[in-house]
Amino acid sequence: MYNIVAVSFGEIFLKGKNRGTFESKLIEKIRFALKEFKDVKVYKELGKVYIETMHEEDMENIIEKTKKVFGIVTLIPSIKIEKNEEIIIEKVMELFKYLLQKQNIKTFKIKTKRGDKKFPIRSMELSALLGEKILNEFKEVTVDIHNPDVEVEVDIKVSCYISSERIKGAGGLPLGTSGRALLLLSGGIDSPVAGYMIARRGVEIDALYFHTYPFTSERANEKVKHLKEILEDYCGKFKLYAINILEIHKAIKQHCKEEETTILARRFMMRLAEKLANEQGIEMLITGESLGQVASQTMKSMVVIENSIDMPILKPVIGMDKTEIMEIARKIGTYDTSIEPFDDCCSVFAPNHPLIKPKLESILKSEGNLDIDELIEKVYSTLEIL
Ligand code: ATP
Ligand code: MG
Repeated sequence: MYNIVAVSFGEIFLKGKNRGTFESKLIEKIRFALKEFKDVKVYKELGKVYIETMHEEDMENIIEKTKKVFGIVTLIPSIKIEKNEEIIIEKVMELFKYLLQKQNIKTFKIKTKRGDKKFPIRSMELSALLGEKILNEFKEVTVDIHNPDVEVEVDIKVSCYISSERIKGAGGLPLGTSGRALLLLSGGIDSPVAGYMIARRGVEIDALYFHTYPFTSERANEKVKHLKEILEDYCGKFKLYAINILEIHKAIKQHCKEEETTILARRFMMRLAEKLANEQGIEMLITGESLGQVASQTMKSMVVIENSIDMPILKPVIGMDKTEIMEIARKIGTYDTSIEPFDDCCSVFAPNHPLIKPKLESILKSEGNLDIDELIEKVYSTLEIL
């Protein structure tokens, strides 16, 4: 039915030079998201961004992909035609018939906008004319101008656009408008959501995954790779790094108290992430921590863990309940993969009674039993790109 989508974005903050940068980035990201489709044009006209296809049958999939592009608030699937009275009538009738088949419509309204004042029929007249045609053709419907089941909009500009649906976009800001961060991506529910939320603010991400192969399985790696692929629909292509931290767990087991395992391992993970980020020119880390969810996510634990590095850590789900995080995971499509039962290194080596209120002094004392620099060098040498 539709051959074009008009895309609108939150324009409140977009003035002057910012707006141009924003629009160019958005167009670039839409083009990238739609690269698999043939004969698609993405362009700007009179302050709006349009996606036009020569193959109507692709439209549904084009919309699905475009819905995941950050920066878009609304998508309006439309029929683009010549500014000609006969053609407009024909297409409005066609669209109305299509809508009747899709949904239960009892009332409707026609709204005409005449941006091109040279068009010979005035808005009110054209709306009335189209309304009458519909009433004559489809006896089961009536007009309701206040609360119609469907509103058909006829927008006369450079061309004529006919539409009736508004689809919610992903919101946020186009990727690449706010820098780069490194996501600590486990196989769990929270970290993919955390990455999504930061990317939604225009931040490009790379991801880092820690494993303890062969104590964690190959399947656990596959799961994280799969999560990466799902996230890429939103975040664009990114790198997934992996580091094997088995040697660290071995050393901790040998030289430190069992209940300190999680905190100590976390401090190493942070150091390794910071090292990789620094080497890649990345300025911030992202984790999926949510306050109070598990022992290592109490205020005290976080203080002790973060004390190991200088780099700021973004924690977008910190104040959210598990159910709220799960809701987003379902919406973005990571949930089903996240709940696959492959252990990550934290669960494999988790102590039976982890510390809830670790003391920095005792943790530092335990770390005194380890050669930190040597361990870091050793496991960092396992760094690979999955
Ligand atoms: P998630 O659901 O993201 O696994 P979680 O609720 O299991 O989180 P923790 O195990 O405390 O919570 O992990 C907190 C955060 O630390 C994770 O959200 C993630 O960002 C990071 N993290 C934990 N384990 C790993 C890992 N194996 N590789 C990379 N990052 C990890
Ligand atoms: Mg986890």
